[in-house]
Amino acid sequence: MSGSADIGVTGLAVMGSNLARNFARHGFTVALHNRTKAKTDALMEAHGEEGVFVPTGTAEEFVAALERPRRLVIMVKAGEPTDAVIAEFAPLLEAGDVIIDGGNAHFEDTRRREKELREQGIHFVGTGISGGEEGALNGPSIMPGGSAESYESLGPLLEQIAAKAKDGTPCTTHIGPDGAGHFVKMVHNGIEYADMQLIAEAYHLLRSVAGYEPRQIAETFRTWNTGRLDSYLIEITAEVLAHTDAATGRPFVDVVADEAEQKGTGRWTVQTALDLGVPVSGIAEAVFARSLSGHADLRAASRDLPGPTGSALGEKEAAAFADQVEQALYASKIVSYTQGFHQIQAGSDEYGWDIDLGKVAAIWRGGCIIRAAFLDRITDAYDGRPDLPSLLSDERFAEEIGAAQDDWRAVITAAVADGVPVPGFSAALAYYDALRAERLPAALTQGQRDFFGAHTYRRTDRDGAFHTLWGGER
Ligand code: NAP
Repeated sequence: MSGSADIGVTGLAVMGSNLARNFARHGFTVALHNRTKAKTDALMEAHGEEGVFVPTGTAEEFVAALERPRRLVIMVKAGEPTDAVIAEFAPLLEAGDVIIDGGNAHFEDTRRREKELREQGIHFVGTGISGGEEGALNGPSIMPGGSAESYESLGPLLEQIAAKAKDGTPCTTHIGPDGAGHFVKMVHNGIEYADMQLIAEAYHLLRSVAGYEPRQIAETFRTWNTGRLDSYLIEITAEVLAHTDAATGRPFVDVVADEAEQKGTGRWTVQTALDLGVPVSGIAEAVFARSLSGHADLRAASRDLPGPTGSALGEKEAAAFADQVEQALYASKIVSYTQGFHQIQAGSDEYGWDIDLGKVAAIWRGGCIIRAAFLDRITDAYDGRPDLPSLLSDERFAEEIGAAQDDWRAVITAAVADGVPVPGFSAALAYYDALRAERLPAALTQGQRDFFGAHTYRRTDRDGAFHTLWGGER
């Protein structure tokens, strides 16, 4: 039996409801389902008039409401709930049907699920969706994996509901087979962690070294947002910093507990990067910075450790310093994206996904949390040279980072002198300097490894593996 709905959404919490409404607002007939029927009813009551919905109660009713080949989106809690929902629906589906998992699944889970369902002839499309609840309703950035065939059926719908970049291009594309979509979403979130950390460090420097108040910093960020740092995250940071706490009249940022939480995608990015051997040091520092902030007891026990006494800058010096921080932030951001794109390339090579990095940059230009003018630049870089080995090999990025490097170093020097932690800025600069270095001390590391473990080393002047007979008893 075949129903009339173009697509179905099961899991009608905030993301699923908004996605369902987005489909309906674009003229699609949307079947609705949720484990607890009350959520389906609530959605119908609040927004039922926004389009054509087919509310259903049981899994069988939901599947029967869908036109064949069926397209159903799962928007439930990632992990076991997703497996439970798949186990409930898969027996009711037929070969050629498409299951779209829009939750934040780990890409390895997606690979497993895709393989299992493929044996049943069902297309499983692990799909990264970024933009939060607002994006889900008004246009997210959508990163679908799965078979190319599934995108033929699904793509036209996703392209309708996705955000549009300034040039009108929909912010969605077929990323690659099986787990490619969720992998790219994971790295997107890792880059988001790094972006947020770098912005937080810029704030900390403007507050502690330049002596600015939150409102002044909000103004500085607003100015930056009119230039090359123009981005959603800079924009909302200015809003947060300008916000006054209604209960106390104090700056909002001063009444919030300074312990950052995390849900796990940043950690997954770093864990996966370690497995792939990709140095994503900026993302790793961002994850560690959140984890350090959460160790309240450790921090309390360390509060009396000695540090430098910072000296307040004069007004003119502070303004000049703020300009330098903008340079440092921009340069560090180039490094974060360089590292993130390196990880996507490495994942693509490892799993045979053949991901087009230029297209990834293009679909992050709108809808998602890291959307920024900067992504136009990355898109241009890959358009100009699709086989770009690294973003730092792009002439314009290389020029810009070169022009920023003196200020970048000056900012980190000032931070060190004043005892302000800038792990993101420092890791980014260390990465840049390590890549530039003619020789790295890794040669010494190899010597040590050969000494204690006979691990052998390669030489600069001859091919082959060598071992030195190190003298003396050990
Ligand atoms: P959520 O709080 O992650 O999940 C709640 C939904 O999951 C409810 O519909 C709930 O049904 C359902 N559910 C939980 N366990 C279930 C089970 N065992 N069987 C069937 N259904 C089950 O909702 P959300 O915040 O809207 O997020 C949905 C997904 O999108 C998640 O994977 C999340 O990681 C991802 N995501 C979220 C955001 C965001 O900004 N929130 C952004 C991108 C992606 P009941 O009503 O019956 O409890």
